[in-house]
Amino acid sequence: MKETIETDVLVCGGGPGGVACAFTLGKKSIKTLLIDKKPKNKIGDKVCGDALNPILTERFYKEIGLPKPDPEKKELMEIADVIVLRGAHPQAQIKLGEGSATVDRLRYGQHLLRAAEKFESVSILAETRVQSVIVENGFVTGIHALTPDGEKTIRAKIVVDATGSSAVVRRRLPKEMCTKFPQSIPREQMLVAYREIIRTKEPHQFQRGLYLTYEPELADVMPGYYWFFSRGERELNIGLGYLMEDRNRGKNIREMNESVRKRYFPDAEVLASQGDQIPARLPLPSLVHNGFIAVGDAGALANPLNGEGHGPALHSGIHAGIHIEEALRNGDWSERGLWKYNKWVWKHYGVEFAMGVALIKFMEKYGYSSFEWLVVKGIIRDEDIMIQLRNPTQKHRGVLRRALKLLTRPRLLIGVRRMVALAEAIQEHAMAYPNYDEFGPWLEKLQKLESRTV
Ligand SMILES: Cc1cc2nc3c(=O)[nH]c(=O)nc-3n(C[C@H](O)[C@H](O)[C@H](O)COP(=O)(O)OP(=O)(O)OC[C@H]3O[C@@H](n4cnc5c(N)ncnc54)[C@H](O)[C@@H]3O)c2cc1C
Repeated sequence: MKETIETDVLVCGGGPGGVACAFTLGKKSIKTLLIDKKPKNKIGDKVCGDALNPILTERFYKEIGLPKPDPEKKELMEIADVIVLRGAHPQAQIKLGEGSATVDRLRYGQHLLRAAEKFESVSILAETRVQSVIVENGFVTGIHALTPDGEKTIRAKIVVDATGSSAVVRRRLPKEMCTKFPQSIPREQMLVAYREIIRTKEPHQFQRGLYLTYEPELADVMPGYYWFFSRGERELNIGLGYLMEDRNRGKNIREMNESVRKRYFPDAEVLASQGDQIPARLPLPSLVHNGFIAVGDAGALANPLNGEGHGPALHSGIHAGIHIEEALRNGDWSERGLWKYNKWVWKHYGVEFAMGVALIKFMEKYGYSSFEWLVVKGIIRDEDIMIQLRNPTQKHRGVLRRALKLLTRPRLLIGVRRMVALAEAIQEHAMAYPNYDEFGPWLEKLQKLESRTV
């Protein structure tokens, strides 16, 4: 007979979203089981550009005591003195400040896992893979899992989908439960991304820097980006990402990456290489259902502008934990009981991702070269992107004022105005996230905004 395990909360996936959620629940003494398909000593390992801003981890430490990446233990690899967005034209350069960093995902992930496991109420089951989801009377009540000892049934009041971009739990929900969020995210709203970790013979030219660049290999797949992120004097994380649109089918991302590497670092040793997918859209319209909640990539919480999802995964994991505790305390873990988490997500990430979504639309319509031209002409400046990243609710008046220089290119002027108007409309809509009973009209308006052209 299949073994059955009972817990209050089952967290599926031990990436940053899952461990931050388990850690928060542990702090609140809630009986939690975290499972991951990986062996225990590999949980946390993830194909990633490795960039994570220490400002965020400092904030999470203050908020809930979540451990920060430790430089002594080489969890934090290098603080960046400079973050640069660089186009093909020598003047197409935007400085995005400083102070972000590269982290070793496995080391930091293992640190977080150990910290979560220290709580008496938290246990971890590695090499345990979600197979199917149990739904009874419209509630998610557990999963069937495959383990090295055979199949197990795990029952819980709340199941957290923290399985990353594969969103294994959400995708296994019955179709009739997926009316407020898509069961699967359309391909064109996903980025395919590939990275290599390389060791160079000599100190490389991107010392203490995070560089997002345009490379000719990207010409046919724009909007996309290439990155060179320093992990030390002779170590780099390099890679690229672009949308999985139909027109990009058949492109070989591994070869594109290799081509750039060979041009910049013909003698480099490749230490690791792999690809994966990242959601590149607004957050799911709803991230909850009866007995169900999604965090991190499984809730589409990666920034569409640059694919950064490590910080949002930690952040959403913490806040899912806070809202789960409240729902359990209130004895209501239905969709309605968990609804406040949606408001939190949209207030933060609906607002933050709005400009990224609008900018992607702009580049798709007017071409990457138009965007670069706006940068060269000083119409889009460093501070505009910084506002977007640091203080997204601030209005984009500077761009609109400077766009008046475009009177000789009226089509582009209209495009810039529409892009800014769309970003601001989405931000306003995100701030007005509705109560449970008023969701229908809100969703309808969101869908209209999402299909609006610039
Ligand atoms: C190439 C690339 C570069 C990136 N660069 C950056 C960057 O520089 N900075 C940044 O902030 N973000 C970056 N990201 C995005 C970032 O990696 C993710 O947003 C982040 O890891 C999401 O965290 P998560 O916890 O939601 O999911 P994940 O980190 O993907 O964790 C999901 C966990 O679920 C487990 N799992 C999956 N399926 C099952 C199953 N069936 N059963 C049990 N367990 C399962 C997995 O083993 C894994 O441990 C990059 C992504 C890619 C692909």
